[in-house]
Amino acid sequence: MTVINEKFIVHTKGNTEIKDITRQVQNAVYKHNLQNAVVHVYVAGSTVSITNIEYEPGLLKDFPEALDKIAPVEKEYHHDETWHDGNGYAHVRASIVGNNTTVPLIDGALQLGQWQQIVLVDFDNKARTRTVYVQILY
Ligand code: ZN
Repeated sequence: MTVINEKFIVHTKGNTEIKDITRQVQNAVYKHNLQNAVVHVYVAGSTVSITNIEYEPGLLKDFPEALDKIAPVEKEYHHDETWHDGNGYAHVRASIVGNNTTVPLIDGALQLGQWQQIVLVDFDNKARTRTVYVQILY
């Protein structure tokens, strides 16, 4: 098995900003001209997630609204007693949503649905710079 390591940087505004990173992932994969591989997309950090969504205006509101019910920003969190950084909600959301996704590359094409984008969601309460790792195994 061979492993190719790629990465790219994403600048966010935080506060549950959702950024479409599909194009960056495609660029990282397609430049190698591979036919079949496992493509693993991972973000480092405990207040940020990677997931899939249909990147359209309605869902870009629905998804944060759903997370507001599970882990509201204004609730008091034990984490804030530890660090006083006011982002307990961000850690809880990131743990629930997860920090990675895997996409199969088959016959030279990433197998994403027509309405399925790969997104980075930054829950932290301030602007951040995130590193996304794309590991290609074949
Ligand atoms: Zn924190």
